[in-house]
Amino acid sequence: MSRRAPIPANPVQAAAPDKTRRHLLQAGTLALLLGRQHIAFGATIVAVRMWPAQDYTRITIESDQRLQTQQLLVGNPPRMAIDIDGLELSPTLRELVGKVRADDPYVAGLRVGQYAPRVVRIVFDLKQPVVPQVFSLAPVAAYKNRLVFDLYPQRAVDPLEALITERLRDATGVPGATAAAPPPAAGDDPLGDLMRQQANRAGAALPPVASAPPAQPAPALAPPAPQAPVANVPPPPAPAATTQGPNRATPSRTDRIIIVALDPGHGGEDPGAIGPNGTREKDIVLSVARRLRDRINASSVNGSPMRAFMTRDADFFVPLGTRVQKARRVQADLFVSIHADAFTTPTARGASVYALSQSGASSSAARWLANKENEADLVGGVNMGGQDAHVQRALFDMSTTAQINDSIKLGTAMLGEMKGMGARLHKPRVEQAGFAVLKAPDIPSVLVETAFISNPEEEAKLRSAAYQEELADALMRGIQGYFAKNPPLARSRQL
Ligand SMILES: [Zn+2]
Repeated sequence: MSRRAPIPANPVQAAAPDKTRRHLLQAGTLALLLGRQHIAFGATIVAVRMWPAQDYTRITIESDQRLQTQQLLVGNPPRMAIDIDGLELSPTLRELVGKVRADDPYVAGLRVGQYAPRVVRIVFDLKQPVVPQVFSLAPVAAYKNRLVFDLYPQRAVDPLEALITERLRDATGVPGATAAAPPPAAGDDPLGDLMRQQANRAGAALPPVASAPPAQPAPALAPPAPQAPVANVPPPPAPAATTQGPNRATPSRTDRIIIVALDPGHGGEDPGAIGPNGTREKDIVLSVARRLRDRINASSVNGSPMRAFMTRDADFFVPLGTRVQKARRVQADLFVSIHADAFTTPTARGASVYALSQSGASSSAARWLANKENEADLVGGVNMGGQDAHVQRALFDMSTTAQINDSIKLGTAMLGEMKGMGARLHKPRVEQAGFAVLKAPDIPSVLVETAFISNPEEEAKLRSAAYQEELADALMRGIQGYFAKNPPLARSRQL
């Protein structure tokens, strides 16, 4: 938690560091003489928001001035108390109580009260012990000052474990299983054993996602299974990828799961672009990604089942670097970031696909867009003292020529399919620029701008389920077309 100079608008607090107790008493007396309505308690709360998610729950208090937090207590039973200095309880702040959702994984309820004349205390009753991050964000975009509480689980959600659990749930049809539930012990079923092997292989190759403090190593799920050496021979000519029913066939030891990371842009505090009729990019792209996920999960490539991994499957903010890191953690074969464009003129229209650029952007428009998308972390709100900022820096300039070449092939296949469905293309070729979210050095990565949400006609299309289905179909055909020409077995892991 960072501390800065106290809020100057509060005369008592501003005087505190250098003045004596006598001065403080005098100031207090002055305040009494002025009467309650004249006491400038500093900040005014303008909005409160809560973003519950499995990864972490965020509470945001937006105010016209920077807020100072005084205490932070985590007790048993799990509770967290935070005192905010120089603040008077207001109806807006009280609204926080009603924002707690029953399905919040971390917060059971909360109380807000005037703890002392100038101190508001918020007590969170927690469903489980948390590792809190408390930080302030300076005004940006439409936001004023934000005080943020991010409540992380004591053991970070491991994307690979979540993926395994989800696949087990779908394969066994066990209702009620959640991504948070631990996978069954080894020996329960062959699919579980298979996926645990994958977990061990991935665990050996990559560190766990460090989006949540403290960064703890993912526990080993099972001892590594002996691996037969894989001959490095090119695969036979590949038939086109096929779409099948749900993958419920008994898996074999040679089961190779093709993982496609789907990255719905923005989320939580970051709405992305907003259409003229109020449509939010973050909602549209999550909906399109879910439709594409369902198609991927029902498909296979050369007999290998496909599986989609969502970098977010709820309305919460995921930093750009964390999106990349999650995809690497699950050893994704492809990374597809989904967005809906906006431009200053409402007439701009059409779909476009972007890949990373090692040098300059392929056009000034591409550079403009990359800069805009890269601002997501500012709007969404990254704790610059936390792990996320570190991850972002670590990923800088890790791009490779091979990754970019594959990304352009994937993007070209997707553009072709979107043109085939009758969508107008904004640009006929894959454009390139320095998108932070495309920087996984080992995963072909594209960013798809599905349409211009700033164009009233395209905004209406993006809202329609039928158009979203068509888009998902086109993107799926693009992925299949890419794999038909670039079989995944030739260039990456095999179980
Ligand atoms: Zn976007």
